[in-house]
Amino acid sequence: MTLENMDNVEVFDTEQKGRGLRAAKELWAGDVVFAEPSFAAVVFDSLANQVCHSCFRRQENLHRCGQCKFAQYCDRTCQRACWEEHKHECAAIKKYAKPPNENIRLAARILWRIEKDGGVVSDGQLTTLDKLEDHVADMPEEDLKELKIDVHNFLDYWPHGGRQYNVDCISHIFGVINCNGFTLSDQRGLQAVGVGIFPNLCLVNHDCWPNCTVILNHGNQTALNSIYHTQRRIELRSLGKIAEGEELTVSYVDFLHLSKDRQQLLKQQYFFDCTCEHCTKQIKDDLMMATKEVEDQKPSDEVVKEVTEHSLKALEKIEKARTEGNYHEVVKVCRECLEKQEPVLADTHLYQLRILSVASEVLSYLQFYAEAAGYARMMVEGYMKLYHPNNAQLGMATMRSGVTHWHAGLIEVGHGMICKAYAILMITHGPSHSITKDLEAMRMQTEMELRMFQQNEYVYHTMREAALKNRPMSMMAEPLEEGIKSLFRKK
Ligand SMILES: [Zn+2]
Ligand SMILES: [Zn+2]
Ligand SMILES: [Zn+2]
Repeated sequence: MTLENMDNVEVFDTEQKGRGLRAAKELWAGDVVFAEPSFAAVVFDSLANQVCHSCFRRQENLHRCGQCKFAQYCDRTCQRACWEEHKHECAAIKKYAKPPNENIRLAARILWRIEKDGGVVSDGQLTTLDKLEDHVADMPEEDLKELKIDVHNFLDYWPHGGRQYNVDCISHIFGVINCNGFTLSDQRGLQAVGVGIFPNLCLVNHDCWPNCTVILNHGNQTALNSIYHTQRRIELRSLGKIAEGEELTVSYVDFLHLSKDRQQLLKQQYFFDCTCEHCTKQIKDDLMMATKEVEDQKPSDEVVKEVTEHSLKALEKIEKARTEGNYHEVVKVCRECLEKQEPVLADTHLYQLRILSVASEVLSYLQFYAEAAGYARMMVEGYMKLYHPNNAQLGMATMRSGVTHWHAGLIEVGHGMICKAYAILMITHGPSHSITKDLEAMRMQTEMELRMFQQNEYVYHTMREAALKNRPMSMMAEPLEEGIKSLFRKK
């Protein structure tokens, strides 16, 4: 378990935000500022049967641990790699007769890890678990109740023969998990599958317009065994040039909210008031609520009010239909809503972007590619005006849109978008990430097709038919949820 590139950073006291990290030397776009393996991590309760408890990949045929019948693994290699982490848990689950919830499992794994390695597990680690904020004192009544129940159940679950901890100590661990638990995604980065603790990452403060991004890299499965030690490794990556001494920041929430809504989210989840430049100056708020101007004519306040109210209702309906898996209903509501929005709202209006995002995703899934591509294109154009040019969400959305265009036979736009997405993901995810590799393969494929298209359209179409039959580009998973937009996870 090694931390990499830790000489790039140093801990310092910020004026308003407590401790923080700053660059110890000049950094450039795409630099790995540091990489850190998880201190401890668990798979979500709801996905315990679908995700490998060792490498956190989603797999079809998982093998159950013969002892506790709870943990599941891809194969022997994954099981062996994880045994050190699982052995105490395995015995505890057997004794407890059922697996406790993910928070309790994670708290126990953290304590076993501390018992084994101490609070500091390597030279590069800049902080220890006991020094991290728990914000237990700031928690609302409801959450405190839940915390007490978790602590109670934890004490039942924790082996009675081992070292014992008092309620304060356990509460601190739960508090740390609550505000520092990092969302782990599956290998494609599309679905949240678990939660883990990365102590150094906890030192990186928030900014709504950050200079770094953090990405989970599952490593390369075909590499040597050493990859199993780099599994569940996060990379802090620089989004642009950072001067020596400049504070390093990441965004804990998606930028696409009005500044007051971001501030509220951050207050609720992380217990601080965001005073970043974008919040203080409300930068881009106007774009996010902008209306369409046709020949200098703005729509009346009344019309705008009607459309925004309609949009909010539509979003509720969509949410409901989506959870029921009723995708045709989703499409119907989206189409109706977009018809109302289009003449009134600007392409950067948040409500329109939300509908466009759902519409393009669901229509792609239903294989209405041409319509999906039109919506995806509008969405990406809006995103480009709002997001930082190297934002990971922008890169992922551009990639999905490029693939949708490819499916729709719109090779020129499709290839252009795939190239654009590739350029962003080279910075946010890096060349070794599995998504970037997929994207590179797509880029080469679409480049070849584009050349063929330009030379001879007939040959292009014949070849494309064949390609579709042999190896469809299958980036279109069932639309499960809104992607992963919060850095740290909150129940
Ligand atoms: Zn595995
Ligand atoms: Zn087991
Ligand atoms: Zn802010």
